[in-house]
Amino acid sequence: QRCFSASSRRSADANVLCFIETKVTDKSDMVPGTLNAITAAKKIGGKVTGILIGKDEASMQPAIDKAKKLGLDSLLVRYAPALEHVLAEPTAPVLAELVKKGGYTHFAGPHSALGKNIFPRVAGLLDVQQISDVMSISAPDTFTRPVYAGNAISTVRSKDAIKLFTVRASTWEPAQEGDKEAPVDVKEAENVGPEQATWISEEIVKSERPDLSSAPIVVSGGRGVKSKDAFDSTIIPLADALGAAIGASRAAVDSGYADNSLQVGQTGKVIAPELYVAVGISGAIQHLAGMKDSKTIVAINKDPDAPIFQVADVGLVADLFEAVPDLVKKIEAA
Ligand code: FAD
Repeated sequence: QRCFSASSRRSADANVLCFIETKVTDKSDMVPGTLNAITAAKKIGGKVTGILIGKDEASMQPAIDKAKKLGLDSLLVRYAPALEHVLAEPTAPVLAELVKKGGYTHFAGPHSALGKNIFPRVAGLLDVQQISDVMSISAPDTFTRPVYAGNAISTVRSKDAIKLFTVRASTWEPAQEGDKEAPVDVKEAENVGPEQATWISEEIVKSERPDLSSAPIVVSGGRGVKSKDAFDSTIIPLADALGAAIGASRAAVDSGYADNSLQVGQTGKVIAPELYVAVGISGAIQHLAGMKDSKTIVAINKDPDAPIFQVADVGLVADLFEAVPDLVKKIEAA
């Protein structure tokens, strides 16, 4: 039934299921985008139920203990051996079945790598349109989302019976842990999908640095840095001096100066830190799509006509190899 019904616009009738994603590195904790997705789910109005997926109840207990305190009305926990790594193929049918059987009006989750893998499959199984990267919600059927690499914002009204959407983390406040605990319903998962993909291994980059997605300060390096050694000897000391996370342009990642998990932009991470320092980055629209909502943008570039200066609050036209070490000395002396 794809017709628009008046009741679908009444927020009190809303019954939202929100996907709770745990970190690959620490299954007892949630990815930051999940907390923002919960806030967006609450904006719909009505009831918000969380859904946690995993291998078995014992291994999920720390995540359950945390998730039930995030202000949800209830928490579902579904487990099966095939769901240990929450791969999209076995997980999507479980979620689609829950959404259908539970009579949910909305299914929300983070616009994370996992969300981007699972949600389109659930949308396909439910035969509804996915609304991606939601930035604001003005009614239970009306959402805004970026288009043209963030250069325009589109307002979308969904006529689907079930609204399925992923949430842009940087535009929503994270849900906070409180004292109230949601009731928890733990069961073996039904309708587990085929194991078409196999989890082989994971390589986790351990870092003492703040996480790029949620750090208040980010220092990013671009192709102007010219080599991996120069990236390590300019960008890293500046990030250390500011207690910042490290980011990079796609050109810097493609040139091997930085790991691709650090890419900021349309096809990388979309972030909005308090302070974003762009070093040797020209400011292509695909890069701006990932950082232009930062509260304060500082750009260091030797080309006064570089487009990055059009979005920068503070611009320094200088050779980065002189300006950055100088800046580090001044910050350390302050
Ligand atoms: P350049 O454009 O080469 O800029 C280097 C800058 O360094 C120049 O402005 C130069 O003046 C300056 N410079 C050089 N030497 C010095 C010096 N000594 N001191 C100071 N400044 C110096 N890009 C992203 O970043 N993220 C994305 O997610 C992304 N996704 C894309 C998706 C698609 C579909 C496409 C087509 C492109 C995408 N790109 C993305 C690539 C993007 O278009 C640009 O090519 C890229 O952002 C350029 O990176 P850069 O600014 O580091 O390099």
